[in-house]
Amino acid sequence: AGPSQLPMAKDFSSFLSLEGASRKKSPLKGLLRFMKGDMVSLGGGLPHPSNFPFYSLSSDIASMKPVGQNVKNVAVVNEKAASVSSENVFVPHGPQPGKVENLSSALQMHRPKYQDWDVVLSAGNTDGFAKAVSMLCNRGDQILVEEWTYPAALEMMDPLGIRHVPVGMDGEGMSAVALKDLLDNWGSIPEQANEAKPRVVYLIPTGQNPTGATMSVQRRKDIIKVAKEHDLILIEDDPYYYLQFFIGEDKSADNETQSGWMPTLLSLDTDGRVIRLDTFSKTLAPGCRVGYMSMNARFCTIVQSHNEVTIQQPSGFSQGLLAEMLVSNWGQEGYKRYLTEKVRTEYFNRSQHLQACFRKHVNPRFASFIEPTAGMFVWIKIHVDQHPRYGTMPDSALMLELFNKCVENNVLMVPGWQFSCKPKPSNLDLSDLLGCWFDDEATYLRATFSYATFEQMDQAMTRFGESLEAVFSA
Ligand code: PLP
Ligand code: PMP
Repeated sequence: AGPSQLPMAKDFSSFLSLEGASRKKSPLKGLLRFMKGDMVSLGGGLPHPSNFPFYSLSSDIASMKPVGQNVKNVAVVNEKAASVSSENVFVPHGPQPGKVENLSSALQMHRPKYQDWDVVLSAGNTDGFAKAVSMLCNRGDQILVEEWTYPAALEMMDPLGIRHVPVGMDGEGMSAVALKDLLDNWGSIPEQANEAKPRVVYLIPTGQNPTGATMSVQRRKDIIKVAKEHDLILIEDDPYYYLQFFIGEDKSADNETQSGWMPTLLSLDTDGRVIRLDTFSKTLAPGCRVGYMSMNARFCTIVQSHNEVTIQQPSGFSQGLLAEMLVSNWGQEGYKRYLTEKVRTEYFNRSQHLQACFRKHVNPRFASFIEPTAGMFVWIKIHVDQHPRYGTMPDSALMLELFNKCVENNVLMVPGWQFSCKPKPSNLDLSDLLGCWFDDEATYLRATFSYATFEQMDQAMTRFGESLEAVFSA
């Protein structure tokens, strides 16, 4: 359908928090529209560009020319990556006639199915999430989250008095059945009796942090269906979207997946109820601090106003280099090639290697994992019931014993409790990782294959295997 045949977004004004509803556009910015023709501006307090001590900006970037066009193919995996051929991008001082500056239009690969959507830049998904929450949630509100989730999201909300309610997960991330059950039966347990039904969901659909789970096409559709039925806003935090290992292999694939990539929740939404957060942190570099939020235009205006009084916009250095690299040098084709041939392949090979090392060195009686299909993480389940002292002491004590043994043996993974939704006890010093393990159900460790060399991964799994043997034979 052409865009004009698509519906308009629904009106979600009743979902706005006090803060969201009262954001106003900055009047100073209103001056900008007069800045044309013969206007002499004594208005905005901007330094004149001739005073900037930066005359140009340049960077050596990976070459993304197709194979055969005089450049070597992009290098894949491991330490040899240093041999990638490079090119220079250059951002000059003045404007460049004829150059596309609009990063977001060049990157728009998940076209929503309603007319009035828009894109607004963020300083990454951490920033984007904080802005979405401030637009939608008041102190005391509850937000639905995966039962194991990204700690910074919870830590951002805690001091604001915005609470979270865990929703059950399976090997495909948040369960649509669990979400529906929870909302269908809301109020039936005493703790919920006086609580308003939550209206906002935070979820990580691809290569979930920490579990590595990825939603199938069907699961995505089911989640959207529940969101419509219970009138929910979905915050789709998807930093690992392009780290999909099996693109095009979902058997239920249809038109949406002709590109081979999973359909985003945003692309399945016809109402304007999905706030999608994209970031360059995992695909290019976390230090770029550039991301973008795609959502209904009303929400975009509110976040834009919030940006105007906080970050203004992501760093101009980052934007300049990214625009030059993505738009002028790589182009859509080069960027797609980078994502599929480089990012996806690199992380796929790394994930395969870590899994192979695990199988080689770890006794399956003591630990297991579900094969990750995207992202950077392996969520390792520790079989505490195999411990000789199982049942005689809390599971958390057994997990702490294992964690300490791992540290002693020089292998570090993130304690599973850090991703727990349970309220953190105030009597424990949680920064003392060797001294406490909170949440008896957190019998997991999160390992990442994103950073260590192949050799180090082998070493780490050897040490992990030995730590398990030592603790489980004690
Ligand atoms: N959201 C999730 C689920 C993450 O795992 C991460 C990275 O650690 C982020 C957001 C942070 O993204 P950004 O660097 O874009 O703020
Ligand atoms: N505070 C004051 C008093 C200012 O005049 C300005 C810029 N006009 C700012 C803050 C904004 O600073 P920044 O660009 O670092 O966010």
